[in-house]
Amino acid sequence: MSLSSSRRPVILWYRQDLRVADHPALTAAVESGAPVLPLFVLDDATPGGWRPGGASRWWLAGSLAALDGELRARGSRLILRRGRAVDALGALVAETGAGGIVFTRRYEPAHAAEERALAEAWEARGLACRRFGGGLLFEPEAVRTKAGDPFRVFTPFYRACLAAAAPRAPLAAPARIPAPVAWPDSERLEDWRLRPTAPDWAQGLRARWRPGGAGAKARLEAFLDERLAGYAHDRDRPDRDGTSSLSAHLHFGEISPRQVWHGVRHLADAGRGEDGGGEAFLRELVWREFSTHLLAHWPDIAEQPFDPKFAAFAWREDAAALEAWQRGETGYPMVDAGMRQLWRTGWMHNRVRMVVASFLTKHLLIPWQAGARWFWDTLVDADLANNSASWQWVAGCGADAAPYFRVFNPVLQGRKFDPQGAYVRHWVPELRALPDQAVHAPWQAGASVPGYPAPIVDHAAARRRALAAFDQIRQDGLL
Ligand code: FAD
Repeated sequence: MSLSSSRRPVILWYRQDLRVADHPALTAAVESGAPVLPLFVLDDATPGGWRPGGASRWWLAGSLAALDGELRARGSRLILRRGRAVDALGALVAETGAGGIVFTRRYEPAHAAEERALAEAWEARGLACRRFGGGLLFEPEAVRTKAGDPFRVFTPFYRACLAAAAPRAPLAAPARIPAPVAWPDSERLEDWRLRPTAPDWAQGLRARWRPGGAGAKARLEAFLDERLAGYAHDRDRPDRDGTSSLSAHLHFGEISPRQVWHGVRHLADAGRGEDGGGEAFLRELVWREFSTHLLAHWPDIAEQPFDPKFAAFAWREDAAALEAWQRGETGYPMVDAGMRQLWRTGWMHNRVRMVVASFLTKHLLIPWQAGARWFWDTLVDADLANNSASWQWVAGCGADAAPYFRVFNPVLQGRKFDPQGAYVRHWVPELRALPDQAVHAPWQAGASVPGYPAPIVDHAAARRRALAAFDQIRQDGLL
């Protein structure tokens, strides 16, 4: 059944696509000529254990408020409901006589299953139900090996993406969105208590972020103007503001990857984005595609090692060490700076994410799933695909993973990527007064710093222990 076959309203079911521009489902709804009912459902049941964490909920509140503003500027508004999405959608159909539903697809297993069930149920009731892409540059079905299988290795995946037809130009935001004669009831965003109150831990998040489409656009423009050219050199430097900071905006769909892609291409065509910045940046955007394709094809990767041999790995349980890591009190300045940046701002630089993840899984031998859980609750950009794939990559058990025996030395990583110690000094103020050479390893310089812990493990001993655990599964013939 088509959307335009009746003048009955069309429900635009908003999910992780909280924008008005480059939104194929919104465009289709508007083109149908029917009144459009934009709906967002806060559904904590469907995602099971992966309901959005604290930092994500804080972001979501800002993003929904911003989206409502963008819709109102077009003669529309956002209807808010709570409960299982399938029930909330059914109720809205009953209340409004809606004849169709449009939405952007998601790739997390629980949400993909939800879409399939919904589509069947709706079509059976004679309602038009249309699913659109828009969250990725390339849909998971579109990029395959020559044998027709999904890719397991990044570089050939990346090449296949570059060889595919270029992503089409972004769609413009509609100037007006047809409204219904009467608006259905909406819950109040404040009643959802998405933002923390007692205690209010979100001060650092408010200072750093501006959720919503306007914030996303401003970030992209500032990045293209000021940082893209130097991205290839600066992206590994946590002491510089050298990356786009677009990850949460992309996760919530406030900006589409096509808008980002074309923004970069446009500069390149104008002869800017020099020094390989544009290419290096688009490659990262393709890592996002790769992670999402992995999750779509291997829906277990949030829970289980991609490489099944790692199921027998001798992980340790160590609540005290896990807590020291979470609080940024391991005694390794680079690790502690990263964990404190995460706690304060809901974000951590990619290089430091790798260092802290390696420390947890190799120095402490704590399972990657425990780290991924902590990130899930504390990151504003927590994303099931990117988080699971990246944790598995660092832990050595993922698709195309870093070899397990590569154990990052947090001191050397600090000296290399934060050479003057500015990043560490900023997030670990106890170390501010130390000279540059001591800031990444106070104990090596014989400096004892009041209020700062001694290392909770010795690097060399921890490294040997990690390699021995790895050797064990190798000797068992598992690797
Ligand atoms: P930029 O360097 O400006 O990159 C541009 C965009 O490309 C990012 O916004 C992001 O969407 C994408 N991207 C960049 N690096 C990666 C990558 N390695 N994998 C997949 N996509 C990438 N990213 C998340 O979005 N959500 C997560 O939950 C997440 N968890 C991570 C956990 C670990 C252990 C590690 C090592 C990395 C994780 N990342 C995650 C990837 C990466 O660290 C962040 O995307 C990046 O730091 C965000 O900052 P940015 O937007 O300035 O990135």
